This record gives sequence, structure tokens and C-alpha cells, in this order.
Amino acid sequence: MSLAAVARPVRRVLVPATVALAPPPLGAGVHEFSGHTMGTTWSVRLVASVTLSREPVLRAIQGALDEVVDQMSTWQPHSDLVRFNRAAPATWHRLPEAFFEVLACARHVARRSGGAFDPTTGALVDAWGFGPAARQGVPDDAGRRVVLERAGWQRLELDPARRAARQAGGLALDLSAIAKGFGVDRVARRLAALGLDSHLVEVGGELRGSGVKPDGRPWWVQLEHPDAAADPAPTLLALHDRSVATSGDYRRWFEHDGARYSHTIDPRDGRPIRHGVASVTVIHPECMLADAWSTALNVLGPEAGPALANRLGLAARFLVRSGTLFEERTSMAFDDLLQ
Ligand code: ADP
Ligand code: MG
Repeated sequence: MSLAAVARPVRRVLVPATVALAPPPLGAGVHEFSGHTMGTTWSVRLVASVTLSREPVLRAIQGALDEVVDQMSTWQPHSDLVRFNRAAPATWHRLPEAFFEVLACARHVARRSGGAFDPTTGALVDAWGFGPAARQGVPDDAGRRVVLERAGWQRLELDPARRAARQAGGLALDLSAIAKGFGVDRVARRLAALGLDSHLVEVGGELRGSGVKPDGRPWWVQLEHPDAAADPAPTLLALHDRSVATSGDYRRWFEHDGARYSHTIDPRDGRPIRHGVASVTVIHPECMLADAWSTALNVLGPEAGPALANRLGLAARFLVRSGTLFEERTSMAFDDLLQ
């Protein structure tokens, strides 16, 4: 076979306009760390002296993530979130700083997305068997109506001055679509506070990168694809002071009577999404917002999703199932990153 016959892979490259390449410190290497959190794995790569003492860094990372779980997990029976969900109707609750910050951000995305993203979907998520309770099959109309009545981000009142939230009665918070991104941001902030400014942080596939590697190059990451082997043009992103998150129908789902049900639920009708969007990737400075918006735009679907992304200036890529292939739709801010 001649060399000319070997198909060269097509690649696309995304680079933020503000890449500022600082010279790497002398005698630095890349250190790798990893662990478990939020029912998935985390990994960190960072640039530091080869003599770095690893133990305190590992403790700082795992500690930052453990706090997110202790406060915001739906799966930990003693988390602050579960305590809030079980609280009596019409009661106010002061929340830990991080929990309040995430809840306020979730409410903001809920409002801006017209309720496509909703942090009060806990009962719905449970009814569809994606929460801690065992799956009971597919909920019928009456069952869905009951849990829909308990949900609704407008029922969630927040008091920023007191960092308090009101349990209106039966509200079941679920922050699973935003907490991983927040965890990434939190770890990145802890690392920066330790003077470790060049890092690539990942929790369950959501990523944030800062600084450059010892060779002076940025952290390159490949955008997630529902069928990586069938990706006709892998897209590489220079993750420089940016985060990237992907919401996908291939991540968690179940099959019932030949139908496929995704773990992403449209809070407006109480059903898993079924409009053919396979994945939505969002690039944003904050991983918390990349994470939440990837779910929000995924719920909005192939028409309303790109339209809202353009209106809000979000960098987003949609892959829509078309037979066995994928049709790509991108927002203007995403196209601006293409080189
Ligand atoms: P993905 O990356 O595929 O969006 P995530 O884990 O980030 O996956 O978010 C999905 C989880 O978020 C679900 O398992 C559920 O707990 C919760 N969720 C589902 N639908 C919504 C929604 N419309 N708004 C907010 N959270 C949701
Ligand atoms: Mg998400």
C-alpha cells in the first residue's frame, strides 16, 4: 500500500482568542492524579516541580470533591440536599456556601432556559428510575402528573442575604446535571490557591484547563462524540482558561418495550427527551455553566437549542442522530473558536 492511499484523518481545531502562553517554569513536569467521586471518576494533570510533594495535593483535590458530595449528593442519605428534600413544607434552611452557589446558578440557568433545565426534578428523576430508588418501569400519565406537581423551579425561593432556601413542600432538588462541573471549578480554584496554575481537571468527562504544559503548549482535548470510531472529523480544543462539558443520550439510558429512555428529562412534560439530539457540547469559562447549559440545550433540542445558544452567545455543538450518522449544528460562538 502506497503512502498516498492512507487516508489522513481530518481534524478541526478550536482555539480561544485569548490564549496567552506564559513560559513554563524550569524543572517542571506533569503530575497525574485520579480518584472516584459522584459515582464516577476524576482525573487531574498539573504542571509542578518534579519534587512536588503529592500527598497534600491529592488530599486537597479529594477533599474539595468530597465536600460537594456531602452537600449536594442525591445518593448520600445524610447530604445537606437530602435533608432539604425531606424538610417540612414552608420552612427556610440556611445552606453551606457551595450548595447555595450551585443552587443559585441552577436557578439562573432554569430561568434563562425557560425551565428546560430545572434543579427541582428529583421526584421526576426517581419516577423514571434514574435516582437512588429502584426503577419501577415507565410511569403512567397519572404518576407523572403527581411528580410534576412537586417540581418547578419557580417554587424554589432563595434568600441570598441569609444564604437560605425555602422548602415549599415536596420540592426534591437534584443537582446531578451541574454538580460535576462545579466540582471541576472547585478543584481548579483549590489548585490555583496552591500556586498550581497550569492544570487540566476532569470529573466524569467534564473538563477545565488553565495555563500551559512544560513544553509551552496548551492542554489539548478532543470533544466527546457519541460514536468516537465514527467521528468523521475529531475536534480538538485548546483548553486554555476554558471548560467543556457534554450532555449525551448515550451516557445513561434504559430500554423498555423496544423504546430507549435517556436520563435527561424534559421538566416541561416530565418525559425523557426524544428529539434525536445525541449530544450537546458547551465550551464556557466556568465548568459549572458548561455542565448545566449542555443539559439545558440538550433538553431544548435541535431547533430551539441552537437558537437559544445564539441568543445568549453560548459556544455549543449539537450532534443530531440521522440514521446511523450524526448531523452537526453549531452556534456562532462555537464557530468563532474554529481555526
Ligand atoms: P449529561 O452529561 O448527560 O447531561 P448529567 O449527569 O450532567 O448528564 O445530568 C443528568 C442528570 O441530571 C440526570 O441523571 C438527572 O439526575 C438530572 N436531570 C435530568 N434532566 C434534568 C433537567 N432537565 N434539568 C436538570 N437536571 C436534570
Ligand atoms: Mg451535565
